Amino acid sequence: MLGDKRGRKQDKYVRDYVVFDLETTGINAASDAVIEISAIKVLGGRTADTFSTLVNPQRPIPYHASQVNHIFDHMVEDAPIFREVLADFNTFIGDLFLVGHNIHTFDMKFIWKAAEDYWGKTIANNYIDTLPLAKQCLPQLTHYKLVDLASYYHISTDGAHRALADCSMNQKVFEKLGKELASPAVTANMRLCPKCGQFLKKRSGKYGEFWGCSGYPACRYTENV
Ligand SMILES: [Zn+2]
Repeated sequence: MLGDKRGRKQDKYVRDYVVFDLETTGINAASDAVIEISAIKVLGGRTADTFSTLVNPQRPIPYHASQVNHIFDHMVEDAPIFREVLADFNTFIGDLFLVGHNIHTFDMKFIWKAAEDYWGKTIANNYIDTLPLAKQCLPQLTHYKLVDLASYYHISTDGAHRALADCSMNQKVFEKLGKELASPAVTANMRLCPKCGQFLKKRSGKYGEFWGCSGYPACRYTENV
């Protein structure tokens, strides 16, 4: 859904969403390009549709990127360019929530910037990042990569680092996290910001401990412990 304002992160479970993942030529949304985008539409907890395509980045794929995602130049030669793909993706997602792992600091930045460059509008869908959800629900873990979470839940990690396989893994992880978020063991230690819907975190300041929004500095909500 295109709009004037970038969508906002929410820390919660929803039953209807599009989980998505990008593979890229590198980690910088300002200078790197998308080479694969995949998505699974989930309605009422069930897979309703999938979207997956390689993307021609119109530049060579760096060796180190191909080593991670096993996508090579010859594979994207005849693929559509991202301007066409993002238009189709935008139709696919409608106004649903977007879900993904570490999308707040990575994937969202790529699709926001591309939409803004192409059309002067941005992707306005609100989104849920499974990384902060996992940290909140599973504080006992020491690593929070998608494969770490999949292993924890005994979910298959076959095909990891290709976009559609990662979406499928993340769909299952998100459904598990949704159950955690409804369990008293997790909700007892959880507070959501009443202004923006992201987790509150205990912080210490010069007057002692307080609850502060994890969306700081965009959201400056605080309350006393
Ligand atoms: Zn907030």
